[in-house]
Amino acid sequence: MATRQGVDANWDHGAPCFIARDSGFKQFLQPFLADQTLTEWHPKMTTLGLNQKSYKRTWFEPHYIGQPTMNQWLKTLFARHAVETQSEIQSIYGEPGKWYLASAERAHGPFDWVLCSTPLAQTQTLFARFNFDLSARYQPGFTLLCQTTLNPSWDRAVCQDAVVAELILSGRRPSRRHPSALVVHAQDQWASEHIDSDLAGVEQTLRGATEALLSATLDSAKLHRWRSAKVIEQAAHTHWLHPTLQLGACCDWGGTRGAESAFVSAKALATALVNNG
Ligand SMILES: Cc1cc2nc3c(=O)[nH]c(=O)nc-3n(C[C@H](O)[C@H](O)[C@H](O)COP(=O)(O)OP(=O)(O)OC[C@H]3O[C@@H](n4cnc5c(N)ncnc54)[C@H](O)[C@@H]3O)c2cc1C
Repeated sequence: MATRQGVDANWDHGAPCFIARDSGFKQFLQPFLADQTLTEWHPKMTTLGLNQKSYKRTWFEPHYIGQPTMNQWLKTLFARHAVETQSEIQSIYGEPGKWYLASAERAHGPFDWVLCSTPLAQTQTLFARFNFDLSARYQPGFTLLCQTTLNPSWDRAVCQDAVVAELILSGRRPSRRHPSALVVHAQDQWASEHIDSDLAGVEQTLRGATEALLSATLDSAKLHRWRSAKVIEQAAHTHWLHPTLQLGACCDWGGTRGAESAFVSAKALATALVNNG
């Protein structure tokens, strides 16, 4: 769940929303829905395509978003704990009960346990020498963070287009302050084919395809590349725990329902940890 802060716009450029089908996740969300850190999103939806008549779409279950930005909910959650951000862990060394995490700047620790909640590629790197044996497949993606003065009748448009998958008027979501923010997500197949292409070319093509769909010029557009956007083939287990080494791992790779899978995976790891404790 990501929000990019610009000078005069904010974009929720990662997951636009999430659903809750797991009963534990539903229960976990209740206090945040009650205090409105989370809210239901009811966008006016449409389908757009070149030379095609647009038509309205509907959703059949609640879709949630954070307020006033997608990631504010998470910031509120970890304000209660000692959390250090902006520190990329490059390796783990030490022994059970005395683990150290090494970033470029310094070593963090010692820690009794290390629980890793990074996407699979990073967990595989960090836990390579501990026989971490899970694998999963992620869909990569491209997102364009744009500004526009257009004022269409829809808030979210699913596109019938080879390049653009959907357009979201991010600034029109509840509690957002910058109405000009538009988020554009690329089609999965097109993103897979271009994930290692020249980024300036990718940005230009995505911008051109968006402008063609809108029949208008965008005020600005900046590209973001996601190497591990959404899990399309989940790991064989929801989580990984090595009680002897005192290491564990969880993340959205435990399922294919994005944010909900991240929660379900973390809860499964926590339960296993308590049962092994
Ligand atoms: C464009 C897009 C659209 C999406 N759409 C949806 C959707 O509609 N619905 C839905 O439910 N989900 C969606 N998702 C997926 C959803 O965002 C993720 O599944 C969810 O956020 C995963 O949460 P997580 O905590 O498991 O992992 P992440 O959010 O990936 O968090 C992992 C964290 O680990 C950090 N990290 C990585 N390596 C290191 C390291 N070496 N040291 C320190 N920190 C590290 C990262 O910086 C990151 O903060 C979408 C994602 C994207 C990108």
